[in-house]
Amino acid sequence: MSNMNEERVLSVHHWTDTLFSFTTTRDPALRFSNGHFTMIGLKINGKPLLRAYSIASANYEDHLEFLSIKVDGGPLTSHLKNIQVGDMVIVGRKPTGTLVADYLLPGKRLYMLSTGTGLAPFMSIVRDPEIYEKYEQIILVHGVRQVEELAYHDMLLEHLPNHEFLGELVSSKMRYYPTVTREAFRNTGRVTDLIESGKLFEDLEVPAFDPAVDRVMICGSSEMLRDLKHMLEERGFKEGNTSTPGDFVIERAFAEK
Ligand SMILES: Cc1cc2nc3c(=O)[nH]c(=O)nc-3n(C[C@H](O)[C@H](O)[C@H](O)COP(=O)(O)OP(=O)(O)OC[C@H]3O[C@@H](n4cnc5c(N)ncnc54)[C@H](O)[C@@H]3O)c2cc1C
Repeated sequence: MSNMNEERVLSVHHWTDTLFSFTTTRDPALRFSNGHFTMIGLKINGKPLLRAYSIASANYEDHLEFLSIKVDGGPLTSHLKNIQVGDMVIVGRKPTGTLVADYLLPGKRLYMLSTGTGLAPFMSIVRDPEIYEKYEQIILVHGVRQVEELAYHDMLLEHLPNHEFLGELVSSKMRYYPTVTREAFRNTGRVTDLIESGKLFEDLEVPAFDPAVDRVMICGSSEMLRDLKHMLEERGFKEGNTSTPGDFVIERAFAEK
């Protein structure tokens, strides 16, 4: 457990029957880049059970925040979903990942494309004042099935643009585009279809993807990553990684079995 801290749960918010978020204390020695994930978990029958989780809070905050799925019968989440304020959670001390601004070449517009809990790393990045210095515009797209699964919707639409310190940057540079696939909403359809048809760009009143100026971060299912990677490569975008910066970077929101 030398690579692990134990943190105390400070708050828990259940968005739906299958989605919740929680905050914990943070060891001040824990260092991470906005967009990173780390291992977190619980002691179950005396043994640590850990899974990868994106950190949804920004790296200057004194607490940690996570957005979690509740998988039916899931080894970790069937316990984690019951956590209460005051409980202890194990948090890995070695955050890592590819959804980091440094792994992208300079550009004008940053797209963050997410589905489901793939929103989590981008909740950290939209709260990072430095990202607003790097880009003229930040576009956060979140695709879900049902409207109620749009976690952080009100925070992204109302609270962040009025935030004491970040408000001016967010309201002048950040666009939030939530989209729903299985019920009526102001934006509907899969992220991939909205890009392919051009509707996303029409709605946002921006030109279609251009590798000369646009940079893209993607976090979702393996299928979504595969489709978007293909679409971007067809348009001339090059993938970046932790050793060579590129025009887009990707991270799985979860591993399929
Ligand atoms: C790099 C990385 C970052 C991750 N970040 C997060 C995060 O921020 N929040 C989060 O909830 N999960 C995240 N996950 C998934 C997480 O690691 C666990 O899989 C999840 O917490 C479920 O754990 P479990 O033990 O209950 O079930 P598991 O045995 O781990 O998963 C069972 C099955 O549930 C499905 N599943 C798992 N996680 C999800 C999910 N998030 N959305 C939809 N279906 C899922 C998959 O089909 C999986 O095979 C991440 C995974 C990776 C690889």
